[in-house]
Amino acid sequence: MSPLTSSDHVVVVGAGFAGWRFAEALRREGYDGALSLIGDEPYAPYDRPPLSKQVLAGKWDVERATLATPEHLAKTEVVLRLGVAAVGLDVATTTVHLADGTEVAGTYVVIATGARARRLPFSADAGIHTLRDHDDVVGLLRDVGRLDAHDVVAVVGGGFIGAEVATQLHARGLRPIVLEAGERPLVHVLGSEPSSWLGNLASDAGIELRNGVQISDVVRDADGFAVQFADGTELRAALVVEGAGAVVNVEWLATSGLSIDNGVVVDERLLATDRVAVIGDVARFNWKSVTGEELVRIEHWEVANVHANGLAHFWMTGQPSTSLLVPYFWSDQYGKKIQMLGHARPTDEVVRVSGGPEGGKWVAVYSRDGVVTGLLALSHPRALMLSKHLLDAPTTLAQALGEAPWAG
Ligand SMILES: Cc1cc2nc3c(=O)[nH]c(=O)nc-3n(C[C@H](O)[C@H](O)[C@H](O)COP(=O)(O)OP(=O)(O)OC[C@H]3O[C@@H](n4cnc5c(N)ncnc54)[C@H](O)[C@@H]3O)c2cc1C
Repeated sequence: MSPLTSSDHVVVVGAGFAGWRFAEALRREGYDGALSLIGDEPYAPYDRPPLSKQVLAGKWDVERATLATPEHLAKTEVVLRLGVAAVGLDVATTTVHLADGTEVAGTYVVIATGARARRLPFSADAGIHTLRDHDDVVGLLRDVGRLDAHDVVAVVGGGFIGAEVATQLHARGLRPIVLEAGERPLVHVLGSEPSSWLGNLASDAGIELRNGVQISDVVRDADGFAVQFADGTELRAALVVEGAGAVVNVEWLATSGLSIDNGVVVDERLLATDRVAVIGDVARFNWKSVTGEELVRIEHWEVANVHANGLAHFWMTGQPSTSLLVPYFWSDQYGKKIQMLGHARPTDEVVRVSGGPEGGKWVAVYSRDGVVTGLLALSHPRALMLSKHLLDAPTTLAQALGEAPWAG
């Protein structure tokens, strides 16, 4: 493709992390044409990971998570349209239709509308908190502030968000009880054995975790909430927080003609058409890894970052990135840091190569058909980073075990 020029107009839909990072990267790459950023939230772009960590802990005001300060905005020369949702996209004319009846016509469009918190169909519905955005954390902090010490907070879902929320609420003197439907948290993400190595994290931190619970409903009454279980028992709680995963924001593209299948489907250059690209949590992209190619959608901060930078570089130079994307995520929970590199499947082979649950820190290597697919670390960031190169090119498990970079 020929690089963008100053007569282009790039319209970014979704003023979250990926959209903002892309705008910054495009300017850094030298783009001096028009740049619009459309977001349905009324806030300047902000970062989400601190919401369930520093902000919920009370260490940061929510404003500190802002990415686009007034100075950044002025420097980046972005025309912001906040508080208005995109409701349609005309792919042929690269025109975005907005909920207020106006439209923004560009020459290129970037879709960065991310995902929203999944809501389970419980009777208490809107009375149940989720944690995805600015308003969620402000509302949760408001209600948490009204609770008394040791009040029970039911946390529905023991995944990353549930565990981080429980950690912060416990630190605030409340009594979170984590309700996990699976045999253990994260089994379907990390696999059976690694999830068992993490099995005691909650109890070691003094937090109650109930596995294998089937919730039939959550109802609200004058005294608070009742979480009702399929076996007929119930748990009284002063507050309920749901961490039940995310749903992609694609409804506004229903008539666009783009391919929608658990995200917007794009190629390895992140293009849905010659002039429409998709980045971040909403992108279902063709991912080239050490074990081949597969269509994936990955909800990691670092993947959104790599997408944003890679697309900006491609559109300004015509050169798609040739380096392998090695997905990375972290989670701060129960006083520990979980970090993962790669995009291993829960069914991959896994071997723990350093440390163990007793010592509270370890590293494990995932492999498929003898080739390393991922690295998982518990509170062992140095060993993880020393081992990162194992995922930059195909490495057999035997090679990895022989080299043992984690021991360095
Ligand atoms: C509480 C929390 C903690 C997290 N912690 C971690 C972590 O520790 N490590 C990690 O790797 N990742 C973490 N993540 C995930 C990470 O934040 C996401 O991967 C990242 O935010 C993705 O960026 P995005 O821009 O694709 O989506 P988002 O950040 O969701 O931004 C999308 C934006 O588009 C807007 N939008 C949606 N539809 C429309 C529309 N029709 N019109 C206009 N605007 C629209 C949305 O309101 C939103 O503002 C966390 C996420 C959350 C919610």
